[in-house]
This record gives sequence, C-alpha cells and structure tokens, in this order.
Amino acid sequence: MKEERYDVLVIGAGPAGSVTAKTVAEKGLDVLLIERNTEIGLPVKCAEFVSRHIERFVDTDPRWICAMPKGIIIYGPGGSQVRLLTDGSDAVGYVLERRLFDKSLAQQAAHTGAEVRVKTRAYDVIKKDGYVKGVYVNSAGEDMRIFADVVVGADGVESYIGRWSGIDTRLRLTEISTCAQFLICNVEVDNDNCKPIFDSTIAIAPRGYAWIFPKGDGLANVGLGIGGDISGEGHRALDYLRAFVNDRFPDGQVLAEMYGVIPMSGPVFETVMNWLVLVGDAARHVNPITGGGILQAVQGGAIAGDVIAKAVYEKNVSRRRLLEYEKRWKREFGKALEVGFTIWNIIWRISSQDQVRFFREMAGEIRMKEFHERTFLKEMIKKNPWLLFRFARLIF
Ligand SMILES: Cc1cc2nc3c(=O)[nH]c(=O)nc-3n(C[C@H](O)[C@H](O)[C@H](O)COP(=O)(O)OP(=O)(O)OC[C@H]3O[C@@H](n4cnc5c(N)ncnc54)[C@H](O)[C@@H]3O)c2cc1C
Repeated sequence: MKEERYDVLVIGAGPAGSVTAKTVAEKGLDVLLIERNTEIGLPVKCAEFVSRHIERFVDTDPRWICAMPKGIIIYGPGGSQVRLLTDGSDAVGYVLERRLFDKSLAQQAAHTGAEVRVKTRAYDVIKKDGYVKGVYVNSAGEDMRIFADVVVGADGVESYIGRWSGIDTRLRLTEISTCAQFLICNVEVDNDNCKPIFDSTIAIAPRGYAWIFPKGDGLANVGLGIGGDISGEGHRALDYLRAFVNDRFPDGQVLAEMYGVIPMSGPVFETVMNWLVLVGDAARHVNPITGGGILQAVQGGAIAGDVIAKAVYEKNVSRRRLLEYEKRWKREFGKALEVGFTIWNIIWRISSQDQVRFFREMAGEIRMKEFHERTFLKEMIKKNPWLLFRFARLIF
C-alpha cells in the first residue's frame, strides 16, 4: 500500500479543518488537508448565520456574504417577541453562502502552503503503542496510508476519528437535533431580521426551534430542528417543516432541500490525545442554545493550529503538550458552551407556563454592544435570574 508522510494531517475541509490547516501551514509545516467529498463546501448543511465576531478570525469577503441582518427577532411561546440589536454596528451578523465560505477558507489554507486533496476519505486510524500515528485513506479509489506527527479530526458531527482513536464521541438520540431546511424563493422575506421561532405550545418543532433567515434577493433559509429521540415515521423534521412552510409560505417555491444533525451534547470530555486533536463539530463545539458552531469551528481551528505548530517544532506532540489547545478553547468559549447547554436543558424541562414566563421576561428590545452568544446568554440570565437557582440545582 502506498505511504505518505506529513507533519500534520487534517481530516475534513469544513471551517474547522481549513482554519487549522491554514494556521499550521503559515508556520511553515507540511500539512495535508483531506476531504471525502468531490467538492469542498457541498452539500451545505447549515442555516448559515454567524455573528460579526467571525471578523476577528477571518477576512470577510462580499462573495460569501448573502445578507447582513440588522437584528434577530426571537418568537417565544405565548406571543412574546425578543428583538436583539447591536449598538455598535448596523448588523448583528452575516447570512453566509457556505458553499463559497468553506471553499474560500480551504483556498486560503492552500495559499499558505497546505496541500488540499478532495475525494479522499479516511476510513481508519493507524495506531502504534495505542496512539494514532496516521490514517488509512481511500483517495480517488486508491487505498493508502498517511502518517503524521499530529492527526486532526475535523470530520464534523459524524466524526469517527475521535472514536477510532479511543475518545468517546458517541451521541445519544437525546443529544442531537435532527434538522430539515428548504431554500425558498417567491416569499416576502424580512431582510432586516433573522427569525428563530421557539414556540413549543404550537408544536412547530418539538424540543427545538424553527428559523427563517434571509438570504437576500427574495430567498430565505427556512428550517427547523427537533429532538433526535422525537423523530419517527410521519413526524420527522421534514414532516414538521412541510407543515410549517405550507402554513407560513403557501406560495413559496423550494429551490433546495437539506437535512442534517446538530450535536447538542456540549463539548466532548477530551479533545486531545498523544498525537491527536479534535476540532469543530468533531469536538462537539456547538452551542445548543443557538445550534451555532461556525464561530467555534473557526476559533478552535485557529487555536489548534497555533498549538500544534509549536508542539511539532518542539518535537513534543504528547497529550500534555497539546492540552494547551484544550485550556485555550475552554477559556475562549468553553463557558458559553456550558451555559448554553445548561439553559437549553432547563428550557425543555420546565413546564409550558414557565417557558412562557421565560420568554415574557425577555420580551422587548435587547441592545448589545456586539452580538455574541456569550453576551446573549448573560442577558438571558439577567432577565431570568431564577435560572441561577436551576443552575445550582443541576450542579448540586
Ligand atoms: C441544519 C443545520 C443548521 C445549522 N445552522 C447553523 C448556523 O446558522 N450557524 C452556525 O454557526 N452553525 C450552524 N450549524 C452548525 C454548523 O454547520 C457546524 O457547526 C459547522 O459546519 C462545523 O464545522 P466543522 O468544520 O467542524 O464541520 P463540517 O462543516 O461538518 O465539516 C466536516 C467536513 O469533514 C468531512 N469529512 C467527514 N468525515 C470524513 C472522512 N472520514 N474523511 C474525509 N473527510 C471527512 C465532511 O465531508 C465535511 O466536509 C448548523 C448545522 C445544521 C445541521
């Protein structure tokens, strides 16, 4: 079997993998970024909203920005509406064109010197003394072994790299949200606002929420996610979505359908091992309260790339050395993931009257200096201080 060797091998060319590869390549190391699909960025499995915080990690490019909504209107049960706005800027974030965004990040990785290879699927890990030293891949029909000083699992929600390596990344049905989304045209879209709809009382999306995100030019991503254990014959996410769209957009035309899964488990316990790092959805770096993972994928990828490059140059790629990555992502966004996970679980455990109360307390306008999940979670707690007692009851 053919063999190759790189300093760093990144599996999966989503935002997490591309940013990791780019950051490592910038430091002059040999990096290979592999993607199982024939085209990076497709199929899109995303509602495509990201806060403007992304600008700190990625140079924005008008080619992958579809819309810049000014606010987010959250529709809660009992008719309450919460409008999130920013003081500092005229937009809360971007609705992306992910197929172009993902390609652009991979292109940047290639520009900085990473080798990018599509149609290349990892199907097992190569272990030595119990630790990962490389990966078996099938590249355009040819089986080969690729060795590396560090292997990065950036292989998304389905991630096998962690599991094959000995990290428990399994997700129970209760820990996922199964989603369906239509790209719709011929509808009147409010281009100024993204609209998540959390109305449990009318069963639009049981243990989840629906969304209407404008994409400009009369287009919108209209989708919803439901609890993974709720999904079943006749009441799948797609069934709920069809009912929702028939009700709200009877004249809408569907240009694309998509299905996907969001991990709602909170981060995996371990994100590093000797010679191995997990980033993005593979590390479950998604905030359950929003279902958002793009920002953490990019931010985590930048941290991972920096730590990996230093570790490779120091010739110390042990778990102990790579733990710097874990410490840094926990410092940057670990708390927000933890709080988001806890609030999400509280919301779905309380009675429907308490859910109404929760949203009623927040109703009206919430102005933030900059829209960020962390700031939004703080506002949620400020308006609902009783959450703190629930936190305490969950912890003790
Ligand atoms: C319906 C839905 C809506 C969402 N909406 C939003 C949103 O509005 N905002 C937001 O921030 N987040 C959203 N998310 C989450 C967001 O899409 C993810 O958090 C983000 O894509 C994570 O990036 P990633 O690079 O970790 O993984 P991915 O983007 O999933 O990339 C992983 C890549 O790895 C490749 N791969 C997998 N296995 C292998 C293998 N064995 N060999 C080679 N390649 C492999 C895959 O093909 C894929 O290209 C949504 C998710 C879903 C499902």
